[in-house]
Amino acid sequence: MKAAPFAYHAPRSLAEAHDLLARHGPDAAVIAGGQSLVPLMALRLARPAVLVDLNRVAGLAEITDGPREVTVGALVRQRAVERSPSIAARLPLLTAAVGHIGHPQVRARGTVGGSLVVGHAAAELPAVALALDARLVLTRAGGEREVPAGDFFAPEGGSIAGPDEVLTRIRFPVPPAGAGHGFHETGRRARDFALAGAAVVLGRDGAGGCAYARVAVLGGGPAPRRLPGVEAALRGGALDDAALADAAAGLVDEVAPVGDVAADAAHRREALVTLLRRALTDAARRAAPHTH
Ligand SMILES: Cc1cc2nc3c(=O)[nH]c(=O)nc-3n(C[C@H](O)[C@H](O)[C@H](O)COP(=O)(O)OP(=O)(O)OC[C@H]3O[C@@H](n4cnc5c(N)ncnc54)[C@H](O)[C@@H]3O)c2cc1C
Repeated sequence: MKAAPFAYHAPRSLAEAHDLLARHGPDAAVIAGGQSLVPLMALRLARPAVLVDLNRVAGLAEITDGPREVTVGALVRQRAVERSPSIAARLPLLTAAVGHIGHPQVRARGTVGGSLVVGHAAAELPAVALALDARLVLTRAGGEREVPAGDFFAPEGGSIAGPDEVLTRIRFPVPPAGAGHGFHETGRRARDFALAGAAVVLGRDGAGGCAYARVAVLGGGPAPRRLPGVEAALRGGALDDAALADAAAGLVDEVAPVGDVAADAAHRREALVTLLRRALTDAARRAAPHTH
């Protein structure tokens, strides 16, 4: 099948893009990497009458190092994140996770912003944005709002980005010095969307205990999830194998995996506990003591 007919615009500026979106309302859709939208259009599951291509808009595809955060433009390709030395050094959780997305060809086109706006429950970047306390900057004609990742993903799946809004950049605060990360996922076949996965950042106090914990999972329900209960159970405690296994087991109180043709809910839950334990173990091993 081929896409339904549509008008195509390639604005050069954000103002022009905002203007097109305001003018065409819900009939318009922005396109970034096209890795989610084009297949949907080809199947006629999405039929935007007007496509607003963001690829020529200046200033949306930069990775910028600030003193306490890294800002990633919404149009930065997933592959560019994977290869960025500054992200590897400052946000290694992001580097570890992004390499699990699809094939290299998908990552070469797919953008960071597109993946976050789609907000798939089993996608890597939404879970990482939650674990890293990212802030997402949405703009529209005459306005801008900054939304914490915790408020960006809709509980039933997807994101709260409005049809006239453009996600322009994502601000990732750099975790405390010495913090360690862990990322694990599993899928039915290599390169498929994951069935389940866990993204973790841990920091130690002077005595080696847990001073800082950020935990999010993919495949834990209809939306990506941060797990504040698991984080609270970890904070202030030892980071030994028994404590990490206990904390991972506590995940069952905070997730509601959905069963589908790929895996039933019980299998997903079991996989989540195992993957979270592995991610916590890696993060604890990498976390240096005396950092706070
Ligand atoms: C074979 C295959 C395998 C894949 N495997 C995985 C995987 O394992 N894990 C994973 O996470 N993803 C996977 N993907 C999806 C991929 O990561 C997509 O790149 C991503 O979901 C969408 O990014 P995009 O830039 O291609 O967005 P597009 O397809 O261009 O757009 C997707 C949606 O987001 C909106 N949008 C995009 N950018 C913006 C913006 N800046 N502001 C506002 N709205 C915007 C569009 O209007 C559209 O509704 C896979 C895709 C393919 C084709």
